[in-house]
Formats: sequence, structure tokens, C-alpha cells
Amino acid sequence: MHSPNQTEAPAACRIGVVVEAPQHSGLWGALDYLSPHPLPAGSLVRVPLGRRVVTGVVWGEDASANGAAAAHEGPLKPVAEVFDALPPLPAAWRQLVAFAAGYYQRSLGEMALMVLPPELRQLDQTQLQRRLKRLDKAMATDDAQAAARHGSNPEPALPELSPQQADALARLAEAPPQSVLLWGSTGSGKTEVYLRQAQRVLEAGRQVLMMVPEINLTPQLEARVAERFAGRRIVSLHSGLTPAQRLRNWLMAHRGQADVVLGTRLSVFTPLPRLGLIVVDEEHDPSYKQQDGARYSARDLAVYRGRLEGVPVLLGSATPSLETWFNALPGSEGGTGRYLRLSMPERVGGGGMPRVRLLDLSRSPQLPRGQEPPPLSRELLDALAERAERGEQSLVLLNRRGYAPVLHCSDCGWKSGCPHCSAWRVFHKVDRTLRCHHCGFSERVPHACPDCGNQDIQPVGRGTERLEEQLAAALPQARVGRIDADVTKHKGALEAQLASVHAGEVDVLVGTQMVAKGHDFRRITLVAAVNPDAALFASDFRAAERQFALLLQAAGRAGRDADVADRSEMWIQTWHPTHPLYQALVSYDYPAFAARQLQERASAGLPPYASLALLRAEGKTQEAAQAFLQAAIEAVSAWAGGVTLYPAVPTPIQRVANVERAQLMIESPQRPALQRFLTQAQPVWLALAGQHRRSGLIRWAVDVDPLSI
Ligand code: ADP
Ligand code: ZN
Ligand code: ZN
Repeated sequence: MHSPNQTEAPAACRIGVVVEAPQHSGLWGALDYLSPHPLPAGSLVRVPLGRRVVTGVVWGEDASANGAAAAHEGPLKPVAEVFDALPPLPAAWRQLVAFAAGYYQRSLGEMALMVLPPELRQLDQTQLQRRLKRLDKAMATDDAQAAARHGSNPEPALPELSPQQADALARLAEAPPQSVLLWGSTGSGKTEVYLRQAQRVLEAGRQVLMMVPEINLTPQLEARVAERFAGRRIVSLHSGLTPAQRLRNWLMAHRGQADVVLGTRLSVFTPLPRLGLIVVDEEHDPSYKQQDGARYSARDLAVYRGRLEGVPVLLGSATPSLETWFNALPGSEGGTGRYLRLSMPERVGGGGMPRVRLLDLSRSPQLPRGQEPPPLSRELLDALAERAERGEQSLVLLNRRGYAPVLHCSDCGWKSGCPHCSAWRVFHKVDRTLRCHHCGFSERVPHACPDCGNQDIQPVGRGTERLEEQLAAALPQARVGRIDADVTKHKGALEAQLASVHAGEVDVLVGTQMVAKGHDFRRITLVAAVNPDAALFASDFRAAERQFALLLQAAGRAGRDADVADRSEMWIQTWHPTHPLYQALVSYDYPAFAARQLQERASAGLPPYASLALLRAEGKTQEAAQAFLQAAIEAVSAWAGGVTLYPAVPTPIQRVANVERAQLMIESPQRPALQRFLTQAQPVWLALAGQHRRSGLIRWAVDVDPLSI
């Protein structure tokens, strides 16, 4: 192309730079700066902003397409510094960030800077160069050591693939790059499939991104990956790293030096110049959705990124999210057929899943209904004792930590409410505190009822602490242990506790959902859920899906060794043994469960048949929060075609830390219609929020594809 201006070299170029700007600033796109010469898009720069100098990313031409163009007054300021020691962030990275910003209704600058390692934003060019030099030196030493070891390390012995693993891998080999659901029972060897597929990709000179839902699960996977790919560079990325480690690992990924990146949801944004495969393990896990700020779903962004970069995305689960299942169901079965579905129904080694037994609490004559604390059936206690005697382990699942969820005075009716939240404070017996699990407010347990002085205030209900105490009392011969967020607060505590379970020092392990996930316990032959009924009647439309996944995953902790598989059992204590969720669980019939759920979702107009967003508001009063939402509805109702706006309501827990919360649901059968609507509504709501701040509105945000409503 010839342009008449080409010969007139400009004195300085105008450069669009995105910087971190809070949502309420109304800055959605890039700001213009001057540079003596053109800078490639994706370059990291430092630019003046107000009185500060901040880190920003040079963007392309269309940086303001994401919303209102950035207005600027006065002459343009020059770029302060260019990080030219660092390769520019690749186009695919910029596209992913721009998509995420648009889709989740955040500003481009917020999204772009949020997903960079925090430390990177603190450094100037000289400091960064020093880091890079140190990193290069460390890697050279690593390489020398690896070379010295070479030869003494035998190749890791690969297990022989099970027929279903071999089949899955064969189909993966011939599939075009696309999203694939690897639907495999717990213990079917999904990880082995990830590793083999990763090996192919590594051998082709590409990088692998492997995501797990929780930090707790990264060391375990890291050990396995490191063992398999000795000699390859493996780095992890999660919020548990120090800022310096996180920057170092990110730099290795971005500069193409790391071969495998293992990480939690934030790792989906890692720039990887040679990306060849994305794995999302336990793709159904709610931890993939960020729950504050930019509320993105790393699972969904992984799928988008795979399409964008033309690489396969392997989504693994025994109980896929209904969204993923729907996309993996062929059209003939009512799905979209967008994903390839690979099934691995059998456990490796031929052991079956534990037999599921529903213990009908209403038929336990010695245990009257309503007894405090809720009953543990005699049969269950006997079964636990029996296992302990045989040297086998049991896992007792209760998804509620603390001693008791509430303290109660039977004289005057006082309950241990939180003064700052609309929630009860939980009684923790170990340190004799009443603790609010929502705002953290904690106090010593009063000796007597604060309202009437009654000395006899009682715990109501049961948490893991109490369950542990009850089991220890009922089973004096057994060694009872516990794993939950309280026990494992301190660094290393979880590892120590897990090690003692693996070493056989615990007969009965009490735990929350934390232990149900991922862990490869070898000697557990009984898993019991003692109070799983609450989820059956929860108002949240995803409660059943989550509960089914949790129970099935917990069941998967039993019988992992073939020699104990045949006598392994999963027990469910329930008042509702005929409930369809439990009936599907008994036969491990995920497709039947999913089909029923999908039917309900279809008739209720819920995902995956409709797209949802929440407009959330927080205020000094409930009225203030709701008034903003009401005004937000009125401001857009004239042109809100294609979407349905529901009335503003208080959130399920309406007050947390003295802040009142309300929300309104926005629904559309068409995702693009919802997106168009939100993009149009944002600036209107932004202006409105400014007015409502005076009357007590504190914060507001849009949550696209909310986990619960
Ligand atoms: P999943 O992720 O599906 O729950 P894992 O990949 O953790 O299952 O595998 C369960 C167990 O089986 C692990 O201990 C793993 O080492 C082992 N395993 C996996 N594949 C094989 C195989 N082909 N032969 C022997 N053992 C295997
Ligand atoms: Zn009282
Ligand atoms: Zn509180």
C-alpha cells in the first residue's frame, strides 16, 4: 500500500497504552502517549499518569473499541520508559485479555494489568534487567546440573496404558485441535492421559498449560509431572507463590523457557509463545470462577483461548459441569456436540467404584428425629469400628467446619448471631471462640447468655470439630483425625496431616470437601457422608450439581487399591433416600442425573439454555442498594429487548461486614443479546452509580455467568 504520508517521518508517534484504571474512572480503553519511535503492540512501558508513573501495555489500533474512547486533555505526554529487555506480549495474549474484558464487563486496563504478575508492575527497567540476568544465570546452572545428572537418571518407567486410556489417546491423536471432554471415573487414569498427551506436545517442541482448581492440588501434580518429564522445565503459577517466584515463573513461561506451566485459574492468562495444549483438570470445579473483581471463568477462557490459538483443550472430570456436558452431548442427544467426548468409565486395575448405601435415618428407631446433635447411626459406628480393626481407613465427610454452627440459649432464645452480618457465628471449641465465617469477626465464647445470664447455652448442630470429638468418644479403639480449613491454616499443616493419613496413622478421617478432591488415598474402604441433605433443598440452582459432584468425588477416595476395591463402600446418611440425586448416585449414573438436571434447567430457562448475569450492588443500607438497582432497571428498560430483567432482591446473605447487598438477575436465551445489552448498559449504570453514591451506594458490579443466583 502506498500512502502519501509515508515519506514524512513523524517527529514522534502517538502510542495507545492501557493502564490499570478502576472501573468507576470510566476509562475503558487505551490512553495516548508519545514515543520517539513506533513501539510494537504488547510492549511493556512505564508512563506518567497523574502524578505517578505506572506500568502499562502498548495496545493496537482498536484499543478503545471496548467501550467509550479514552478522552484526554492537553498535550500528550511522552512514554517514560520501555521494557525492551522483555519480548512484547503476544497478539494472542492481547486478544484473550480484550475478550475477557469485554465479556466480563471490565475495563481493558484493569484486565490487562490484573493478569500480569504483581511484581512486574512494581519494577522499573533496570530492576527488571537485573532480574532477567539473575534468572538466566540460575537457568544456566540448572542446565549444567541436569547435564551432569544425565545418564545416571533412568528414563521413567511408563505404566502400560489401559485399553480405554489407549483408546482416548488414539482418538485425541486424530482429532483436530478442539475442546475435548475427558469424562472419566475417579481413578480411571485421566492424569495419565493428560501426561501422555502433554508428552506428544512437548516432543513437538510446544508448551503445555495444565490447570488445577486448587493450590493444594498443585504440589501433588507437580511431583508427578516432574517425575514424568525429568529434564523439562516445569513451573507453577498460583497465588501461594512469593511475588518474586511468581514473576520468575511467569518470565520463564513468557520467554518460552518453561515447557510446562502448572497453575490455578490465574494461569490461564500466562503468555506462552509455543502453546500446544491446555488441560483443565476437574473442569467442573467452582474454583475456576473468580469470585471478586473481574469475575472471570478460567475454564471458559481456556476454551476460548484454545480456539483462538488453534490448540486442543482437554477438560477432565468425572462429573462435568452441565455446561460442558451439554456441549459434549451430540445433537442426537439434545446437546450442541461442540466438544469431542471421550469416556473412561472403568477404574484402572479393574476395581469398581465403591457400593453406595443409603442409610435411611427415619428407620433408625433408636435415634429420634430432631435429636441434638444430629444422629450418627449405630450401623455406621459399627462399620467404622470394623474397618479400623481390620487396619483399613474410613473417611467421614461433613462439609461444615467448626464445632457447631450456632450457640443457643433455651431460656430466652438468644442465638450467636454476628453483629455485622446476617449470619450465625460458628462455635469453635479448640480456641473457645465464636467466629463469623463471612466477615471474620471473632470473640471468646461468653460464659453465660449475653441476654438473660443463663449459664447453660448449648451448641446446636454439628461441624467437623464436634464430629471428630463424637467419633473419638464412640470409637475408643480408633485413631480419629481431621482435615479442614481450620486444621490446615498453617503452612505445611495440610501436607503433614495428609502424610500421616498415607502412613496409616489415622483410622477415621473427618474432613470437609477439601479431602474429597484429588487425593490418592490407598487404604480407604469406607466413605460416609453424614449430613448431605441440606443441598437437596437449597435455592441455588447449581446446588444439586455441586452436591452430586462432591459425593461422587468423595466416593472416589475409597477402593483406590484393587485389593480393597471389592469391599469398599460409600454410605449416605439421609432422611430422603428416594431423592433422585441419591438414586442416580447409587448407580453412578451421571448421564441420568445430568439429563434430569438439564430438563429442569430447560423448563426454568436457566444455563446452559439461557445466559445469566447479575447486577450486584452493595450499600450502606439495603434500601440504598436496591434503589440503585431499581434505577438501573428503569434507565435501560426502554431498550432492553431480548433480555429479561428480574426484580432487585437482597442476596441470600444480605449483610456482610455491615454492608448490605442486593442483586438483580438479567437473563437472555441468547448469549450475544445479553452481551450487547450489558455493553450498552455499562456506561448508563456507571453514570447512575455516580449519582447514587451520595445516597449510600458503596459498590456495584456485573457478574457474567454467575456461579449461583
Ligand atoms: P483420575 O485422575 O482419573 O482420578 P489417576 O490418573 O489419578 O486417575 O489414576 C489413578 C491411579 O491409577 C494413579 O495412582 C495412577 O498412577 C494409576 N494409573 C493410571 N494409569 C495407569 C495405568 N495405565 N496402569 C497402572 N496404573 C495406572
Ligand atoms: Zn438467654
Ligand atoms: Zn460477620
